[in-house]
Amino acid sequence: MTTVMARSEQSLAAFAAEAENWLATAVPAQWRDNRGKLTGEESDALRREWDRILWEGGYSGLSIPREHGGGGFGLAEEVVFHVLAGKVQAPDGLTRVGKTLVAPLLIKSGSPAQREKYLPPMMRGDEVWCQGFSEPGAGSDLANIQTRARRAEGGYLLTGQKVWTSFAQHAQRCLVLAQTRPDEGRYRNLSMFLVDMSQPGITISDIKQISGAVHFAEVRFDDVFVADEDRVGDDGEGWQIAMRVLADERGGVESATRYVEIRSDLDLLLATVGDRPELAGALRDLDVRAELLRWQLAKVVDREEDADAAFQRSASVLKVMWSELWQDVTRLGLDTAPHEHREHWRYQYLEARAVSIYSGTNEIQRNILSERILGLPR
Ligand SMILES: Cc1cc2nc3c(=O)[nH]c(=O)nc-3n(C[C@H](O)[C@H](O)[C@H](O)COP(=O)(O)OP(=O)(O)OC[C@H]3O[C@@H](n4cnc5c(N)ncnc54)[C@H](O)[C@@H]3O)c2cc1C
Repeated sequence: MTTVMARSEQSLAAFAAEAENWLATAVPAQWRDNRGKLTGEESDALRREWDRILWEGGYSGLSIPREHGGGGFGLAEEVVFHVLAGKVQAPDGLTRVGKTLVAPLLIKSGSPAQREKYLPPMMRGDEVWCQGFSEPGAGSDLANIQTRARRAEGGYLLTGQKVWTSFAQHAQRCLVLAQTRPDEGRYRNLSMFLVDMSQPGITISDIKQISGAVHFAEVRFDDVFVADEDRVGDDGEGWQIAMRVLADERGGVESATRYVEIRSDLDLLLATVGDRPELAGALRDLDVRAELLRWQLAKVVDREEDADAAFQRSASVLKVMWSELWQDVTRLGLDTAPHEHREHWRYQYLEARAVSIYSGTNEIQRNILSERILGLPR
């Protein structure tokens, strides 16, 4: 791995200049030149390759401390990097769940053995992670999950059904929330596990999305063994841990990766229909909203270390901002784009239908803002 200087040794501007130089030649030509024309398999292979390229270039897990295999930078550098990556239309790797959700969790709440075992292959791009929280009867009402982990010699046996599990088809590992204490009340009956997806008893069934892509799957666990040392935190502490993971999911790094795709779509729109006077107002509005998103991202960067209301508010505001902006960009693209880009916009428009649902629906984000932040009555 090429070593990039730690944050304290380098200004943000110097970091950005170095990253921009690196990005100028790092994106695989096959990805850059065939955007919108690659098959799902080709695209996945290039996304995997991108994870390795990031590692070799020293840009994997930028805000993860160096002792855990990351870049040792702050969130500011991570966000700047994603913005620059968006400009050159870099791919989104397959290791997003691992790097943005599992790594911060293991650093805050994992054991030294868990960090040593799981972080290096994640940073190298060798191991893909997925997140097994949602179930058919438990999405917004996550506390209602029914997957059970019952006590067995040296650990637990996991049985249940997860759904909408992104990256499950590619994953070697899964972060699973399960009930371990059926006699305890809501919020005290759950635990969090690190599950090896290569074990017998795991069935993964693809789910095709409206866009035609297969980004997620249903995952069934049938008496799958999880060792005690693969539980994160205490037995019964799963709810608190899940809330920390969800805050990271809505926070700065995740939103920055979304900004990348939104900016790239908006630039495509400006390049193709930017000279049409009847669209000038709508395009200006979208451009201003993209700038506001970038500005809001910079604000979150300053607050991500606080587990208080300011961070929660920023995370929920960000989630609503980027998801609604992306939906509006793709809607305008679909309505106005020239014939040769229709397939791209059809796909992006349909993909963007999901963004107000995942990471907690926008209705739930507005509930959080109104109840927990503004203190309005339920
Ligand atoms: C593309 C995609 C990828 C996903 N990836 C993952 C993943 O990797 N791992 C994972 O665990 N999950 C994943 N999910 C699942 C996602 O987190 C859930 O779909 C989401 O939390 C909503 O849950 P639900 O689908 O059960 O809908 P429900 O909770 O049944 O909600 C249905 C509707 O009711 C509304 N609603 C529900 N409760 C309230 C309320 N209290 N107040 C106001 N409105 C309410 C919702 O906003 C929604 O519009 C993914 C989903 C999508 C679409």
